[in-house]
Amino acid sequence: MRDGDTYLAGLRARPRRVWLHGDPVGDVTVDPALAGPATRIAELYAGQHLPEQRELLVGTADGAEVPRALTVPRSRHDLRLRAEAFRARAEPQFGLLGRAPDFAGTALAALAAAPRLFSEMGPRFVENIERYVAWVRAEDPYVVPAITAPQIDRSPDGAGTGAVTVVAENADGLIVRGAKMICTSAPIADEILVYNPPVLRPGDEPLAAVFAVPVDAPGLRMICRPPLHGPGTDPEEHPLAARFEEVDALLVFDDVLVPWDRVFLHGSVDLSNALHRRTCMPLLVGQQAGIRALVKLELLTGVAVAVARAVRADAYLHVQSRLGQAVAGLEQARALLATAEVEHGTSPEGVVFPGAAQMGALRVLLARQYRETAETVRAIGGSGLVMRPSLRDAVQERAGDLAAFLPGAGGLAADDRIRLFNLAWDLVGDGFGQRAELFECFGGGDPLRVSAGGYLAADRTALLASVDRAVRPPTPVRA
Ligand SMILES: Cc1cc2nc3c(=O)[nH]c(=O)nc-3n(C[C@H](O)[C@H](O)[C@H](O)COP(=O)(O)OP(=O)(O)OC[C@H]3O[C@@H](n4cnc5c(N)ncnc54)[C@H](O)[C@@H]3O)c2cc1C
Repeated sequence: MRDGDTYLAGLRARPRRVWLHGDPVGDVTVDPALAGPATRIAELYAGQHLPEQRELLVGTADGAEVPRALTVPRSRHDLRLRAEAFRARAEPQFGLLGRAPDFAGTALAALAAAPRLFSEMGPRFVENIERYVAWVRAEDPYVVPAITAPQIDRSPDGAGTGAVTVVAENADGLIVRGAKMICTSAPIADEILVYNPPVLRPGDEPLAAVFAVPVDAPGLRMICRPPLHGPGTDPEEHPLAARFEEVDALLVFDDVLVPWDRVFLHGSVDLSNALHRRTCMPLLVGQQAGIRALVKLELLTGVAVAVARAVRADAYLHVQSRLGQAVAGLEQARALLATAEVEHGTSPEGVVFPGAAQMGALRVLLARQYRETAETVRAIGGSGLVMRPSLRDAVQERAGDLAAFLPGAGGLAADDRIRLFNLAWDLVGDGFGQRAELFECFGGGDPLRVSAGGYLAADRTALLASVDRAVRPPTPVRA
């Protein structure tokens, strides 16, 4: 398994074509905007070697030690072990790294454990996914997922415009052209896993490709969005943004050759869509993503409570009610994750997965709850979220001003109050917080279609049976 130094050395050894602010980036490990995100990922790699973390974070696959995400759960106990590992990975970064290595690692382990689906493409494709995942287990590269097509024309007529498309195939592999809208962390990754959401339609066969490419594949370009915070960001003023900003990039595939041994599926709309229905990938990834999001929601809910207490706004019934809703939402998310383990199922290939009904409900709940709790912080924080003088002003006569006019209630010192509201602003106000919120709403898919899909997938038999019983009361039994 990799450690942090090996990961960073790997980034340096493999130059990739990355543009940021109009300039090509040379070494991503020293670029002022990318070095921080790379260091956070290096810390995760380093963490799996800490003696006190090893038992939690490391499992076995094919007889070798691998990060827990790359194992295949075969029992309810395995699901529990994975849950504990995902939490341990998320806690140090408050769940703010949405595309840590365990996300795609989980997806890959689930795909390799679904040979039946890939065998419908042909035996070589089963070998491809199994060989690739065996390589990932041995080398532990940082893999990130690229799923979403460019947002050019989302009307039914325009769907697929600009999407990654197979334009040719030859003896060496597939030639792909097009783009993926957004791939978080791609500039500091080693590998890109490309697949589609389950929305392809007949006629989309050239789009229906699932494959992996190294970040330095010839023809692959990455164009980053401008950083939300620069290297000069003061960690006291932006305690989260200064440490946990992720980088997002548009991925352009300019006739990239995907060698055959890295092609897992192509040309079949049915099989591309079936990845989300007939493999355990969405449910296992849902467990990882759900636990990470829960850790983030815990911080957000804590911030809501702390801000209310700081100015004693929680003396009011409506504020207590809002906080009560936030705490209830948090508990619902916890309960869904726990019940999903109890209601686990087993795939025909012996993979144990968390309950589908609970995981579906969790996706709907988390996207809504995160936004609601963030709004609660804004509603309670009011002007305090904005009026946060620099702590460098706590000198000379201004130290007295801050102590007199900006302390919190109940003896909260002005500097501690400013630190708390800096944290709150980072999380719900500033660009970092806005992205963090948008990620929870959209990172798992368009929330509107996710909830509609939850309705369509739900077993409605029992619900409708109960309506039937109520609408036609039974004839009273005569004594
Ligand atoms: C911060 C952030 C990081 C992300 N990181 C990644 C990543 O690493 N990898 C990755 O692949 N993706 C990533 N995503 C993308 C994420 O998967 C998408 O946001 C999500 O799938 C929704 O797609 P979209 O954002 O293009 O929204 P759209 O699909 O464009 O939706 C926009 C609006 O149009 C409506 N709409 C669009 N199409 C339809 C339709 N067919 N039917 C009904 N309504 C429709 C939606 O309801 C919505 O209101 C990230 C997103 C964010 C915000």
